[in-house]
Amino acid sequence: MHIDVLTLFPEMFEGVLQSSILKRAQEQSAFSYQYVNFRDYTENKHNKVDDYPYGGGAGLVLTPQPIFDAVEHVQQQRASKPRVILLSPQGSTFTQQKAEELAEEDHLIFICGHYEGYDERIRQHLVTDELSIGDYVLTGGELGAMVMMDAVIRLLPGVLGNDQSASLDSFSNGLLEHPHYTRPADFRGWTVPDVLRSGNHAKIDEWRHYQSVKRTFERRSDLLLNRSLTEQENEWLQKLENHKHDLDDG
Ligand code: SAM
Repeated sequence: MHIDVLTLFPEMFEGVLQSSILKRAQEQSAFSYQYVNFRDYTENKHNKVDDYPYGGGAGLVLTPQPIFDAVEHVQQQRASKPRVILLSPQGSTFTQQKAEELAEEDHLIFICGHYEGYDERIRQHLVTDELSIGDYVLTGGELGAMVMMDAVIRLLPGVLGNDQSASLDSFSNGLLEHPHYTRPADFRGWTVPDVLRSGNHAKIDEWRHYQSVKRTFERRSDLLLNRSLTEQENEWLQKLENHKHDLDDG
């Protein structure tokens, strides 16, 4: 995978891309990236990439010309049909499913906005996806791009070392992940559930599956609406539901 990041502030990315798993992923050639400072593409004689909004009002708006030219240039460089992702609080919310979808692509372009936002024609005529990392407003798109890059890159083949570990993560199968414990078996009197130390792998799998369903029911029952449930999961959920009603009734 190759990733082009259109940003006015490339220095913001280095700590994230040059540490830990993302650094190793580049060393393994799982992905490459380049920063594209779209100020380098502006035809404005004062090097400006923003301007006052038509109709008046506060704030500056990113102009279309430098962003269109920068995207078209990197598209030509790689002769590819990339996904062009606009970072925006108005976009659809980035999810694990979206990360999985983007991890299948060969070429991604992230456009990081700043100031008041973008000229609407960028949204209408240049991008393939408009994505948000949540219902809040950041000063720029860089943090959002880093979040998305991290979530996508860790899904690329070989990056996590053990291909299994991503498939069991929260959201990957529509559930939150089960609880984890490590040594010591007794920490300040709080002990690890016996089943995890039993060596009985069928029982351990069943316990983990149940805990995953229970945790999802308690914390994110909205996720269960989109999942086709097994008979066993339905049975567990019925019991959890009954128990909740008993508690509510006092
Ligand atoms: N005026 C815009 C609005 O109300 O929709 C917000 C502009 S914001 C101050 C500047 C830039 O930060 C946006 O263009 C976008 O690139 C980025 N940004 C802000 N919040 C974001 C979010 N929740 N997800 C992704 N990008 C975001």
